[in-house]
Amino acid sequence: YDLKNEDLKDLQELGQGNGGSVKKVQHVPSEKIMAKKIVLIDAKPAVRKQILRELQIMHDCNSKYIISFYGAFLADPNICICMEFMDKGSLDGIYKKIGPIEIEVVGKVALAVLEGLTYLYDVHRIIHRDIKPSNILCNSQGEIKICDFGVSGELINSIADTFVGTSTYMSPERIQGAQYTVKSDVWSLGISLIELALGRFPFSESSDDSDSDLSDFEGTLSPARPGSLALNGLPPARPKKTPTQKKDKRKSKGVSLQGGGMTMSILELLQHIVNEPAPRLTPEGRFPKEAEAFVDACLLKDPDARMTPKDLLKHDWIEESKVSEIDLEAWAGTF
Ligand code: ATP
Ligand code: MG
Repeated sequence: YDLKNEDLKDLQELGQGNGGSVKKVQHVPSEKIMAKKIVLIDAKPAVRKQILRELQIMHDCNSKYIISFYGAFLADPNICICMEFMDKGSLDGIYKKIGPIEIEVVGKVALAVLEGLTYLYDVHRIIHRDIKPSNILCNSQGEIKICDFGVSGELINSIADTFVGTSTYMSPERIQGAQYTVKSDVWSLGISLIELALGRFPFSESSDDSDSDLSDFEGTLSPARPGSLALNGLPPARPKKTPTQKKDKRKSKGVSLQGGGMTMSILELLQHIVNEPAPRLTPEGRFPKEAEAFVDACLLKDPDARMTPKDLLKHDWIEESKVSEIDLEAWAGTF
């Protein structure tokens, strides 16, 4: 596709994230339906062009577990990324709509994510860096694919410069400032799977109120008080824009750090991830032993002990998921 902004007709708003917003659009000349991600980037023209060049790698990412890429272009001051539209949306939206996801489906999700991560790493040496339910998408054919992986180093830098925010799917070693590796993605997968199976973010305080969870924050690590950071190794917050430029995506979370009162909460949460035992699939006995063991393996706090996505593809629970005959197309037809 030779994509130009004027050929794309907006159809529907799909959602807002930290980095921008996503719309369902139609490419009029080809009639193709696409998802257009608009990323606002505060960077010099040379850097924008570099990002655009780096994004072209996505043309070579061909896997049924990875969202297809149709092209990217500059629409100043934004970068637009056009990708495959997934009509059932992301898994966070799905569980918020239908409640906890049955464990056999969660097993298929684990399989798809591991296949996608293994493909990205083995073929392209790409580490995803942002595995979480909102980056795992589903369509009515029952396909499960991952999106929003870190192909462009410059894009990662620009977003890091522009936005203050810390995701709590982050592994203990990342919180402590270690390099990203494929094993950090495995941690994030473990947290995400618990969230899908329980129907709530595993670090949330109450068991029945998904609105009060702590899955991510507005204005995390207040830039006004970088010195208040009690954790070692966290990158200093360097906002170029005020956090309020981020839209209200998080108003439903009921958490704002702007008042300062919650500042300790994010720090406490990050400290909790570093210092306390990892969450588990609980209560014991509710889920198959193999599923419990798989999540425990993902959430080993020592990254050296944690397995890679490729090794985890041989885990008993994943072998079971491979042969499971659960019909994801029928499942996707229920919502
Ligand atoms: P963050 O910015 O913190 O990563 P996010 O993943 O929710 O959060 P976006 O990546 O901007 O933010 O996506 C916003 C929403 O758009 C997602 O939650 C998802 O529901 C929807 N979405 C994204 N890509 C697609 C797609 N290809 N097809 C259908 N829906 C999509
Ligand atoms: Mg996303």
